[in-house]
Amino acid sequence: MRCPFCGYLETQVKDSRPAEDSAAIRRRRSCPSCGARFTSYERVQLRELMVRKSNGEVEVFARDKLYKSMFVALKKRPIDDDKVERTVNSIIRQLELLGENEIPTDLIGKKTMDALYSMDRVAYVRYASVYQDFRDTGDFTDFIRELQSRLKEDMKAISPEIVLPAKKPKE
Ligand SMILES: [Zn+2]
Repeated sequence: MRCPFCGYLETQVKDSRPAEDSAAIRRRRSCPSCGARFTSYERVQLRELMVRKSNGEVEVFARDKLYKSMFVALKKRPIDDDKVERTVNSIIRQLELLGENEIPTDLIGKKTMDALYSMDRVAYVRYASVYQDFRDTGDFTDFIRELQSRLKEDMKAISPEIVLPAKKPKE
């Protein structure tokens, strides 16, 4: 692999180990020419994904973009990086398994929202505010209200007896 700093081709692998729950191999590399050290990842790619943007443009799917959007939403939240990497892998696997040649950006946004919803609610709201392009505080309050009712529904699904105590039959 080419050195990203000086362009030298024969970089050396110093260490190689499984990462992201063994979905990836992480390699520490060093460049004998300039002495730089960097990391590369090897991941399974089931198929080449293309993304169709809302303006109709089509481009090659970029894992980094997806990762970065989640990373920004999760900034200073108590979620470790490995979990983010694994979640990104899982979203990509879902997209690959659709078998479509082009994935609309909307769908990637929706999958990301779903993942963040179950991971961290603050990050979920942050991501939504960017992705759904909130214009003012009214958009925020509407969204939070919807979120609250969704959370209430989820709580009922998890533990109906807590939210809706069953009436005791009269003796
Ligand atoms: Zn180098």
